[in-house]
Amino acid sequence: MPELPDLTIVSEAFHAALAGRSVTRAAAPAPLAVRGTPAELQALVGQRLARIAQRGKFLLLDFDPDRVVVNPMLTGRFQLARPGAPLPSKTAFVLAFGPRDSAPSATAEWTRGAAWMPANSEAAEVRYRDPTQMGKVYLLPAGAERPVPGLTDEEPGPDADDPALTLEEWRSRIRRHPGELKNLLRNQSFVAGIGNAYSDEILHAARLLPFRKRASLAPEEVDELYRAAGVTLANAIDVLRARVPPTFEQQVRDFLAVHNKGGTACPRCGTRISEVRAGGFITSYCRGCQQ
Ligand SMILES: [Zn+2]
Repeated sequence: MPELPDLTIVSEAFHAALAGRSVTRAAAPAPLAVRGTPAELQALVGQRLARIAQRGKFLLLDFDPDRVVVNPMLTGRFQLARPGAPLPSKTAFVLAFGPRDSAPSATAEWTRGAAWMPANSEAAEVRYRDPTQMGKVYLLPAGAERPVPGLTDEEPGPDADDPALTLEEWRSRIRRHPGELKNLLRNQSFVAGIGNAYSDEILHAARLLPFRKRASLAPEEVDELYRAAGVTLANAIDVLRARVPPTFEQQVRDFLAVHNKGGTACPRCGTRISEVRAGGFITSYCRGCQQ
């Protein structure tokens, strides 16, 4: 499942590649994934892309004047392609863009001069592919009321790497959630953007067991969890910036310390990593150095 670090890379790269271009074609090969009408889809043609951004586990595409929001859920992935490149199977949604007609605002430094960046004079395409068809693409024409579950119906908490999420704010927000730490980190109303993989990584970095109750944490453990979340996400973003492009549709997870590494040695203490499967999700942790 794409989480905050994965979507940060996609949003920074796609913003740098596509903002300032206008849509030349909009298509929905798997229309069930799209929340919106064919007329709303076609109305995107001619609209200029102002900005692509990530918020929690959502990708936001701001056109002038409409908006498109994608919630990739478990298996949704984004591809940046040249027009005419073979369309992957299970592609649900395609936006083709013409040459760039104005410079994009505020591009991430790491994207500048990148080899995968389409030239300003070239066309480019975004494909959204989803083998399980669980994710959704929401078309949000200017002025229309269409709720995006998890984004507009209930306000998510701040992004887990939002500079506005200070230690003080973290301490205050965490008090409302007494339950297990893994569930707490994945609760988007606490902080947004963390899912099954990075919750395991953050808890390993904080040396806390996933099934510990928040109510059992000492104040310094609450603070350590904050520090671990910041460091883990920032490190992952650094790794992904170097490793993901140009295959944005592939999820890179092999560098993680514990998640999905059950049976292998903990990189910190050498103990065999434990794994619990519940509700279709894997939780991985180390009995040797997490408590
Ligand atoms: Zn360990």
